[in-house]
Amino acid sequence: MATAPKQHLMTDGLILREYDTTAEADRFVAILTRDKGLLRASARGAKRLKSRSGAATQPLCYARLSLIPGRDRYIIEDAQPQDVFFPLRQDVEKLALAQYFCELALRLCPTDQPAPDHLRLLLGGLHYLCEDKKDPLLIKAVVEGRLLSLEGYMPDLTGCCRCGKEGGELVFSPTAGTLFCSAHAAQGDGLAVSSGVLAALRHILYGAFERCFAFSLPTPEVAALATLMERFLLAQVQRSFNTLEFYHTLRP
Ligand SMILES: [Zn+2]
Repeated sequence: MATAPKQHLMTDGLILREYDTTAEADRFVAILTRDKGLLRASARGAKRLKSRSGAATQPLCYARLSLIPGRDRYIIEDAQPQDVFFPLRQDVEKLALAQYFCELALRLCPTDQPAPDHLRLLLGGLHYLCEDKKDPLLIKAVVEGRLLSLEGYMPDLTGCCRCGKEGGELVFSPTAGTLFCSAHAAQGDGLAVSSGVLAALRHILYGAFERCFAFSLPTPEVAALATLMERFLLAQVQRSFNTLEFYHTLRP
């Protein structure tokens, strides 16, 4: 008796990473998809010169995908490229940052459940990196902050966590994820927060999703925002990222 054909999954996704690069012709990839979150898939013969799915299954390609569920991974039956983010491939610093976004996504995005906001955030980050109109450090802080908030890591930025004071000198504790006034400043890991940086943090974490990249800050405050968001992220997820360390080696 013939078995019914397995249901195809039609979705779109961003190729995050290639793994098992020893395979000669096939490509094994991790993808952030709109409908199933993170998944692993292989594309038969994708590394061959004339393969139709070759370009569309490379890391940092956003593609329309037709996937067949398999035992331990999906098979990519068809992949139509929607965006290859070409400018990223010509700038080593932006490429490094984009690869860090992918490693973050691999760590923080859900599997086996829809992830449209995660995907939209990643694609937004890559688009803004390509556009070259926003400081890459600002884009980095938004991607980090919003990914964290999607996963429930939400700091309390209303005011000093002891007395509620909202103005004056405030410090932010990356480990506690809370603000302290100067009288209640925590020992150790508190970072001073200017009013501009605090407004940016609130915008990133509490603001409307579709506007999360839509703000600007003077350059020194962008640097402070980026430092603070990165410290918060590393303190919350409690691990390091090879791609982030590499990105830092590229920056003076
Ligand atoms: Zn206080």
